[in-house]
Amino acid sequence: MTKQQILSSCELFLLDLDGTVYLDDTPIGAMRRTLERLRGCGKRLVYLTNNSSRTRAEYCEKLRRLDLFDAKDDVYTSSMAAIGYLAAHHAGARVHLLATDAVRAEFAQAGVRLCEERPDVCVLAYDTTLTFEKLKRFNESLAGGCVYIATHPDDVCPTAGVPMPDVGSFTALLQRSCGRLPQVVCGKPFTVMGRCIAQRYGVPPARMCMVGDRMHTDIRFANANGMKGVLVLSGETTRESMAHFSDRPDLVLEDLNEIFS
Ligand SMILES: [Mg+2]
Repeated sequence: MTKQQILSSCELFLLDLDGTVYLDDTPIGAMRRTLERLRGCGKRLVYLTNNSSRTRAEYCEKLRRLDLFDAKDDVYTSSMAAIGYLAAHHAGARVHLLATDAVRAEFAQAGVRLCEERPDVCVLAYDTTLTFEKLKRFNESLAGGCVYIATHPDDVCPTAGVPMPDVGSFTALLQRSCGRLPQVVCGKPFTVMGRCIAQRYGVPPARMCMVGDRMHTDIRFANANGMKGVLVLSGETTRESMAHFSDRPDLVLEDLNEIFS
């Protein structure tokens, strides 16, 4: 597809964060102006992240600090998709949630009943405050046979140095200790998050465009959910490495700013 076809056929742009909008704390090129131009064309902007170590409010605050956030924009995290999945399929369930305190508060505020005794559901989020005691208690709950949900599948979280272990690494650890893998994974590239987003914004997937720098999460997510997919080469993927994946983006840009050049 051409840039013009993407712009005319999509009303909601789902924007991956790291590698797409910014690198660490630096907006990529003239990103502020690009986002303003997208809004000026009447596009709704939703920042989409798998990282469930921070709340929606914390991401809004970071984007505001970088002057990338407008009052009409939104942030959607894999924790929010997990909350949406629980509401749709396990309303009123007792949930053992492994997460940071802020994310635990986000679940509680959304009406999720948090407990660690005889839970119906275990939810594994990205707990960057993990201790052995928390891991031990979560392992015990999983062994009890409850429904097992993970917020997202990423093995590592990118940083300036060595990538940090992310939820996918912890699901591998728990598979070794209790023999179980998550029955449901919510974030990109899976359809739980796609369905939650379509419901929240009332926009059909064909009118949404996912913009991201990773083939196996962002572009797979677009293809799996019937959305347009724009790959940006400002992060993890190069023209050479994209050929190793079976998914195909609808458009490839050096970075998102190129959509208007
Ligand atoms: Mg990224």
